[in-house]
Amino acid sequence: MKQVAIVTGASRGIGASIAQRLARDGFAVVVNYAGNAAEAGKVVDAIAADGGTAIAIQADVAKAADVRALFDQTIGQLGRVDVLVNNAGIMPPQLPHLGATDDDTFDRLVAVNLKGSFNTMREAAAKLQSGGRIINFSSSLVGTLLPGYSAYVATKAGVEAMTSVLAKELRGKNITVNSVAPGPTATALFLDGKTPELIERLAKMAPLERLGQPEDIAGAVSFLAGPDGSWINGQTLRANGGMV
Ligand code: NDP
Repeated sequence: MKQVAIVTGASRGIGASIAQRLARDGFAVVVNYAGNAAEAGKVVDAIAADGGTAIAIQADVAKAADVRALFDQTIGQLGRVDVLVNNAGIMPPQLPHLGATDDDTFDRLVAVNLKGSFNTMREAAAKLQSGGRIINFSSSLVGTLLPGYSAYVATKAGVEAMTSVLAKELRGKNITVNSVAPGPTATALFLDGKTPELIERLAKMAPLERLGQPEDIAGAVSFLAGPDGSWINGQTLRANGGMV
């Protein structure tokens, strides 16, 4: 039986690339999505065309009942869960300074990025196989702390903190918990609402002088999910071309 990886938010962007990479690594992959069934279906089809195994399951990670069903359907259809990649996340295109941030924006960021990661980690703590891996998603903005990102960065700093605590709480279960913290990466989440000049300026912040591509981040996740990552636990890996 193949090992099974759930990738949240895998219909687009970084998550779609992670799903395809983990399928090539030999995992049966659950392509989770919130609303975009057509895009999730395309990722499943691409994996199947490449000889891999994948299914799509809808679940809003902000809803605990959806996340419970995501794990139960995965175990029902694929038999087990070995890897959770907590990639689903949101970042509104326009983020004002803290003083001008409205309640809805703050609450939605917390619900998806922080509570969503909590919901999936809670299920994983109970249902992952021995030898399992949990890979959370932070952001290199936790390091740069740029103006305009206070609410977003608070959710990601919380994810990093939960990562280290859960790694300790899973003592004896042979499950590692780590975070990946990308820098600017060429997806809708980063590109939407930015001028070409701003994109160029942010891309040049890294000494490698380019944006990350989803495949760059998928490579870091593949390392943490695979045999070579087995001794890394409770850490946050910044994958950002050296920006911070
Ligand atoms: P995208 O906006 O390109 O894709 C987001 C994905 O998350 C989609 O598949 C979307 O599903 C899914 N999603 C959104 N909300 C939910 C939800 N409530 N429940 C389940 N799935 C949901 O984002 P990226 O690929 O850029 O980002 C992936 C992760 O990387 C995020 O956690 C982000 O914070 C982090 N990150 C990204 C950076 C970047 O520069 N791109 C930099 C640092 C961190 P659907 O298609 O159904 O809407």
